[in-house]
Amino acid sequence: MAYATTNPYTGEVVKSFPTAKDDEVKAAIGLADDAFKGWKNTSYEERAAVLLKAAEILRKRHTEYAKILTLEMGKLIAEAEAEVELSAKILEYYAKNGAAQLQPRSIPVEGLPADAAKLVYQPLGVLYIVEPWNFPYYQIVRISAPQLMAGNTLLLKHASNVPQAAATFEKLFIEAGLPKGAFINLYAAHNHSELILSDPRVRGVALTGSEPAGAAVASTAAKYLKKSTLELGGSDAFIVLDDADIDKAAKWAVFGRHWNAGQVCVSSKRIILVDSIYDEFMEKYRAGVAALKAGDPLDPSTTLAPLSSFEALELLKKQVSMAVAGGAKATVAGQPVPEKGAFYQPTILEDIAPKNPAYYTEMFGPVSQIYRVADEAAAVKMANDSPFGLGGSVFTKDPVRAQRVAKQIDTGMMYINHPTGVRADIPFGGVKNSGYGHELIDLGIHEFVNIKVIVDM
Ligand code: NAP
Repeated sequence: MAYATTNPYTGEVVKSFPTAKDDEVKAAIGLADDAFKGWKNTSYEERAAVLLKAAEILRKRHTEYAKILTLEMGKLIAEAEAEVELSAKILEYYAKNGAAQLQPRSIPVEGLPADAAKLVYQPLGVLYIVEPWNFPYYQIVRISAPQLMAGNTLLLKHASNVPQAAATFEKLFIEAGLPKGAFINLYAAHNHSELILSDPRVRGVALTGSEPAGAAVASTAAKYLKKSTLELGGSDAFIVLDDADIDKAAKWAVFGRHWNAGQVCVSSKRIILVDSIYDEFMEKYRAGVAALKAGDPLDPSTTLAPLSSFEALELLKKQVSMAVAGGAKATVAGQPVPEKGAFYQPTILEDIAPKNPAYYTEMFGPVSQIYRVADEAAAVKMANDSPFGLGGSVFTKDPVRAQRVAKQIDTGMMYINHPTGVRADIPFGGVKNSGYGHELIDLGIHEFVNIKVIVDM
């Protein structure tokens, strides 16, 4: 895809950027490798200072950074500001905790003195990171903060509709004191994955995006025996049991399904309701969805943003038509959304049978898939009947029941009485078609280091 900023609220193509040529890609790998030779020998204090400075700059100029997100992918300005703050928090988290997470670890070995065998964590080299547009800064920082702290250097291929956000982050790191070449934004084409991953100086790839992108990039990585981590799609179940606080559940479901215009990998995409509370929940849920106000994402009173692009809008329209053709009942909610801009009218889908193709489809936008089940066991069964295994939630007032349900759901993350969350100090990752590997906390920083054992016999 061609790199361009297109405002999804106005439809205006603001600026286009040329895709990198092969020579530029090769030169970038060389620069990143040169930078690695110096960066890997810096102290944790020096690396932490860069991350802290980047966090400070983000906070100081938060509105300027936030507006770029709203311009390029239509995010509500308040959500864009929250993303800037979350990114600053992740940078600070690793500045504060990264060195401790990378301290050598003694391992007890029978017959040897206590400190004779230890694990040391050493950087690998240049990493390739491929990121999606839905959280343009957060996605970058989720991988770059830990990996810069670990001493690696990075080549970024961001989504083609957020080129300014990508360039802005490169500038931010340079301004924060990162040596030139340690973080490079590259307007790479899809087929550059081959050129990049075949280069021996590139030691791994982290991709966040769709299943096809993950499969394509991970198979190229496998061909060249490079490590990969994949954070892919999701279709989180949002289970409401008979003893739940229905007001709270309905309020969180409206948020969980509609924040970021419904374009979150961990959006509450499948709302699974136990029969006895179905009607009461739906009355409150419909009222909550109907109260959303679509409009200018820069206007602080707007609560429903346009989709990220007109292509995304077309895809969602097709998916809903397919659901209806497959027998689902669709009801629109709220005031009509503006005609101009990539808006999708909030829609509630019910009666989605397992044979309906929508049943297994991840929908990215303000479309609620509602399912009715008999009881807790049926809710668990339905939640697990998905190709994805990213996050999920269960609403109940009984903490023992909540833990029981959470443990039975086949996902990487479960939240009790809250939609799946996103925080600097909680790890992120899924199972099944949602990918493999982790981001954040010590799990994330250890993904791309050489965990070397040194044994003094
Ligand atoms: P996408 O098309 O897969 O794009 C994601 C990134 O991959 C973009 O930079 C894209 O570049 C690149 N890409 C796509 N195909 C590629 C290929 N064959 N080779 C190399 N790079 C390739 O994803 P999307 O549909 O825009 O984003 C939404 C998806 O991401 C959803 O499925 C969502 O659930 C998932 N997601 C997952 C997480 C998570 O943490 N698990 C977080 C956010 C989003 P171009 O833009 O140039 O095509």
